[in-house]
Amino acid sequence: MTEFDDGRAGERSRELMTRAQKRIPGGVNSPVRAFSGVGGHPPFIRKASGCHVITEDGAALVDYVGSWGPALIGHAHPEVVDAVTKAARDGLSFGAPTAAEVEFAELICELVPSLQGGMVRLVSSGTEATMSALRLARGATGRSKIVKCDGGYHGHADMLLAAAGSGAATLGLPGSAGVPENAVADTVIVPYNDLEAVAAAFEAHADDIAAIIVEPVAGNMGCIPPREGYLAGLRELCSQHGALLIFDEVMTGFRVALGGAQAHYEVTPDLTCLGKIVGGGMPVGAYGGSTTVMRHIAPLGPVYQAGTLSGNPLAVAAGLTTLKILARERPHEALTSTTTRIVEGIGAAAAEAGVPFSSHQVGAMFGGFFRAEAPNNYAEAKQCDLDAFARFFQEMLARGVYLAPSQFEAAFVSTAHDEAAIELTLTAAKEAFAALAG
Ligand SMILES: *Cc1c(COP(=O)(O)O)cnc(C)c1O
Repeated sequence: MTEFDDGRAGERSRELMTRAQKRIPGGVNSPVRAFSGVGGHPPFIRKASGCHVITEDGAALVDYVGSWGPALIGHAHPEVVDAVTKAARDGLSFGAPTAAEVEFAELICELVPSLQGGMVRLVSSGTEATMSALRLARGATGRSKIVKCDGGYHGHADMLLAAAGSGAATLGLPGSAGVPENAVADTVIVPYNDLEAVAAAFEAHADDIAAIIVEPVAGNMGCIPPREGYLAGLRELCSQHGALLIFDEVMTGFRVALGGAQAHYEVTPDLTCLGKIVGGGMPVGAYGGSTTVMRHIAPLGPVYQAGTLSGNPLAVAAGLTTLKILARERPHEALTSTTTRIVEGIGAAAAEAGVPFSSHQVGAMFGGFFRAEAPNNYAEAKQCDLDAFARFFQEMLARGVYLAPSQFEAAFVSTAHDEAAIELTLTAAKEAFAALAG
């Protein structure tokens, strides 16, 4: 840390926020960036490199937000920056097929188990991926109902803004204004990690359910892994009833394992949604499945989905280069053990200070909960002590550790988190818990 010795918003960030609030609703272009759940103002970020973000006030913060997931190989990785720079010189957008997007699609299909031998369509965000996958599921099955989990976040499409977690959870909104009742009339909500509820939904709606969409590791109510047998159980119920199983791997894809949660848990979905890491920091989403299902998409089939900037050359350059680095360096084992060290260190600091605290970790994502027992679903996650989280968050930020400003978000570790960053984090955690206890 340099001129400004505290990670919280300093004078420059405050000035910028005052200006931002006049022209951008809430001063932010995505609600989770505002500090609604923790109070105060967010620091504005000037640049980022490796595992650090540098604020407009001159503080270097150890970053566990990672642009909300994409920064798995650290910020501004030189190879990725080179690839994007070169692509930019060759023209920003053509709206026509390119060689790079073919190579990108081939690599995605190679790395993600359920896409092997299948097809993938590129879009520009995770929201577009889930929205399109559900349209495809409905078009392919001729059915209308979808099942989603309480607290599961799948982007901001109308039909999915029922009982969504993440930003909506932080703001305490049950869904969203502006979503008409009939937009969510075909959305069936079940608790996460509860197979009986899914079986009951199939009993109640027999042949009407087109798909179940699920985050295989829930990442928008903190980080909550599936119970033993949960994903396999969903697979079985979907197959039994002719519904499609959609894994929303926008967060878990390439993070919990190279092949995502489906590789980690060895359960094969019918459709997979990707985002975040797949774009290497640029706006990219993707959805894919077997050729049989994907054949329903236009221009092959009757399910329409399009995008002027889909497969944009800069975005493809960033995503393709990132996936190539991951495929070449296979960092997941090391990433997992780094993450375990951080999680265990934070847990030990909490225990030492006598603060009720628990955590979950899968691969390079984790969640700490201000609750004695780690939650298994959204109802339990909501029982966390949110005031304690907010205080901990501020104490960590003041010590140069940038966590997501909500109890209902996961934390992300990158290959750039080195020894110094881990030590700084664990020292900060000790002091932060001590401050909370004292
Ligand atoms: C972030 C996220 C989305 C939405 O992606 P955007 O790129 O923000 O539209 C969808 N599903 C999950 C699981 C996510 O974490």
